[in-house]
Amino acid sequence: MKTITLREGKERSLLKRHPWVFQGSIAKGGGDVGETVRVQAADGRFLAWGAFSPASQIRVRAWSFDEAERIDAAFFQRKIQQAVAFRQRLALDTTGIRLIHGEADGLPGLIVDQYGELLSAQFLSAGIERWKDVIADALLAATGGQYLYERSDTNARQLEGLPMVTGWLRHPPVPEDGSHRATEVTIHENGWQLTLDVAEGHKTGYYLDQRDNRGHFARLVRRLGCQTVLNCYSYTGGFSVAALAGGAREVTSVDSSGPSLARASAHVALNGFDPAAHTALDADVNGSLRRFLEEGRRFDAIVLDPPKFAPTAAHAERAARAYKDINRLALKLLNPGGLLLTFSCSGGVSADLFHKIVAGAGIDAGVDGYLLQRLEATADHPTSIYFPEGEYLKGLSIVRK
Ligand code: SAH
Repeated sequence: MKTITLREGKERSLLKRHPWVFQGSIAKGGGDVGETVRVQAADGRFLAWGAFSPASQIRVRAWSFDEAERIDAAFFQRKIQQAVAFRQRLALDTTGIRLIHGEADGLPGLIVDQYGELLSAQFLSAGIERWKDVIADALLAATGGQYLYERSDTNARQLEGLPMVTGWLRHPPVPEDGSHRATEVTIHENGWQLTLDVAEGHKTGYYLDQRDNRGHFARLVRRLGCQTVLNCYSYTGGFSVAALAGGAREVTSVDSSGPSLARASAHVALNGFDPAAHTALDADVNGSLRRFLEEGRRFDAIVLDPPKFAPTAAHAERAARAYKDINRLALKLLNPGGLLLTFSCSGGVSADLFHKIVAGAGIDAGVDGYLLQRLEATADHPTSIYFPEGEYLKGLSIVRK
């Protein structure tokens, strides 16, 4: 067993069960890609078992803080069973569920979503990559599923020095005609039907973390009687379907991805709403908000769900300006009494900072608002109490005065 010895004083974060060891904390030792290593303090005290990642700034990710624990196939089977059992206890009323959420489930670098009978996974760290086969089998065993699609095509893989990989990882025997199961699937969420393609969609195929917020939005649109709705960064139109379900008369989805917008329009029809009530706009959000202002357009409700502007705290300042800008424009575009749902999924922007950014946007827009609710990711995207960085999605629902 290879050993990693930390510099003096660098044991503190592992003692607090934070699972990452940065390159600069290591005094000596190394390992192969994804190899299990013993991490010890400068005085030789055991701290954790972890996976070594020679290419990454996060040089070791902890598997366990228990010296007696063995990191073997049974370890991964246990972790996966525990994660799946937790989701079952949540008894979510949906067929799209996040089964494994990285650090929160004790499996740093593993993301798995279940979409009906399909599992879609991202293997994002060297340690997870090394145990891929064991993990794939354990996922099928824990869920009773047969289909597992791999979407290891994100930048995080590059930081780990791993190649991009996509395709079926598990599939029942392919019939003689060679046909695989389609990568498209329909899920149920908040009583709506939504389709996605695990091969073509963003991330694993869909943004399940916003499920509750989409439901929240539908209820608020109804309660407040919002008629005209602007869904910015709409992706496949989850919030647009929510708006129509809430009784909106006119919904505009804006996204820079044509295929996502095509699916958004299909979702309107699939859920029995009038296609004429929905406009899909393939455009940049910032430019569109400015144009709407110039044209004097106003909306009863606006959703802002942008991509991650700040991957880490180091990007927070530039990201803050970008968030402030779109929130200022959106607040100006709201009719008095209108509703704004605004989000940040940047790990580098805390909930507190995000609130301050939106407050600043309100001052610049000359608009005050009632803060209705603080929003976060759904319960199947939990965070570990030891890992506050895991809390990435934060949002506010605001009613303009
Ligand atoms: N709200 C969506 C998820 C949004 S993900 C849901 O509920 O499913 C962020 C989206 O922003 C992606 O679909 C991406 O294509 C889009 N996007 C990124 N940059 C953009 C830009 N500058 N203008 C418009 N859309 C953008």
